[in-house]
Parts: sequence; structure tokens; C-alpha cells
Amino acid sequence: MNCTACTAALDAPAQLCDGCARGLDVRLGELPAQYLLLATHLRPGAGRSDGPVALVREAPLPVREDVLDMRAEGGLVTVLEGWREAMQNARGWGQPACTGSIERRVMAAARGLQLNIEWIAAEFPGAGDMAREIRALAGQAAALLDPAPPTLRVGDCAADLGGGDICGAPLRVPAGTAEVRCRRCGTDYPPNTWLTLATGAWAVPAGAAA
Ligand SMILES: [Zn+2]
Ligand SMILES: [Zn+2]
Repeated sequence: MNCTACTAALDAPAQLCDGCARGLDVRLGELPAQYLLLATHLRPGAGRSDGPVALVREAPLPVREDVLDMRAEGGLVTVLEGWREAMQNARGWGQPACTGSIERRVMAAARGLQLNIEWIAAEFPGAGDMAREIRALAGQAAALLDPAPPTLRVGDCAADLGGGDICGAPLRVPAGTAEVRCRRCGTDYPPNTWLTLATGAWAVPAGAAA
């Protein structure tokens, strides 16, 4: 039997290997904070204090649509609530409540999934898809929070964070340099590895210093 997220061989029947289960748990714990932080990145030149988010959203100044989309209905909250509902259905439980502000709903959905992480890793048939989707979502949120200016995207971080949990954060070449370092886990990628990253043909992270 293999992990349904990373396909690593498993010693005992389960949906997720330990590394993927741990990675999912950590990301579910981080997503509510990432969601809150995105409010400070709604405008180009993020991080400045521009007053209440509601006012910023109405301002005739440029707003980052990608950040708005992630924070709105249909964004991060919808992915989390969708998986929580699927998990509860699979356990024969009722519909989870989705009430309150989006902030509260993000927190409740992430928490509801974290509380069931052991069952998800052991038995939830959607665990592999869920782990991969949450990893991509956390990577997107991290990229939006990245204060660096837009630069050449070379691929996703292939570093193994332990037990087969691949980092997956987007990697970019900062303007005017030839250094690529993962902003999430700190792995360095020398230029001779970029083509491998860009083609997604990563097999052995040769040359990548952890
Ligand atoms: Zn795995
Ligand atoms: Zn990384």
C-alpha cells in the first residue's frame, strides 16, 4: 500500500505516510494566520498601514486581485470548508456549521480538520487529494505574502522536509541575481538545477544544499 499523496510505500494500511500527515497538520495550523496576514497585502507595496481593510478595498488605488480572490468566498475558506464537509460526510457526520466572518470560518474549518488528522491520515479516502490541494493552497498563500517583487518563476521547491513531505513553495530568481533560495525552508538551488526545477523533472536534488 502506498501514500495517496506522495506514493511512498507504507508499512501499514493508511491513506497518508507520516511525512504527508505531518505536513498537512502543520499547514492546517498555519493557514488561518496566513489568511489574516493577507489582509495586509491587499495593495501593492504591502505591509504599510493603510487603515481598515474594508476601506482599502473601496479605495480607487490598485488592489491586488490575487490577494482579494484568496481572501474572498471561493478562495481559501471554500477549499477548507469543502474538505471539512467531505471529511464529515465520510465519517457519517452532519454538515459542519459555516457561520460568522470568513476569518472565523477559516479558523473553524482548519481546526475541524486538524482535530481529525489521525483519522484522515488513516482512513479518509480523499486524504491524498486533500494533502496535495492544501499544500498548493499554503504555497499560494506564502507566495502572496512574499514581499519580494515579481521575478522569474523557476519552479517549486523540491526539498524533503522530512519523511517525504515535499516543501513545494514557489521558487523565483530575484532580479539581478543568480541565487535561488526557498523562502519557506531555506534550501538553496544553484543555477545548474533551475532547468530541472522548471521542467518539473526533479528526481534527486543534486546540488541542493539543505
Ligand atoms: Zn506521503
Ligand atoms: Zn522549500
